[in-house]
Amino acid sequence: MVKSAAATVVVAAFAGRAIATLALPAERALSFVHLHTGERLDVTYWADGAYVADELALVDHLLRDVRSGDVRPIDPRLLDLLHRLRRAMRSNRPYQVISGYRSPATNAALRRDGRAVAENSYHMRGMAIDVRLAGRGLANLRHAALGLRGGGVGTYPNSDFIHLDVGPPRSW
Ligand SMILES: [Zn+2]
Repeated sequence: MVKSAAATVVVAAFAGRAIATLALPAERALSFVHLHTGERLDVTYWADGAYVADELALVDHLLRDVRSGDVRPIDPRLLDLLHRLRRAMRSNRPYQVISGYRSPATNAALRRDGRAVAENSYHMRGMAIDVRLAGRGLANLRHAALGLRGGGVGTYPNSDFIHLDVGPPRSW
């Protein structure tokens, strides 16, 4: 009886560990190349069950408003969305960044230039990013992003990027 119970406990422990490993990767990493500044960044922004503040700060800096230099916090949920999307695309390539945070002044200037920029853009709240992924077509990227239902997905084929945000799920 004692032996049998011990064996059961061991099996249960192994099974529990296997399930935990599948459900919760120990780390979440992302890499970026910013197309306007040429800056590259590899970060492990989540580890041991928590966001890593120093790594998030590196992301905030990379995704700053490149016109004004303003740095604002990027919503970590946006990083999780990017992380999920890269896994769905089975890619380890860096995201090519067109735009991250935008100050209200920059957003207004882009609107005056006639760019397709929303007046209350989630870019101004650190909740949006415009990206492409090398080696993956825009249509595939859009399809995968829509499947994640993690927020807004906009497609800009003429400029070859998709917009992602962690606002309400919607698409255009
Ligand atoms: Zn955008």
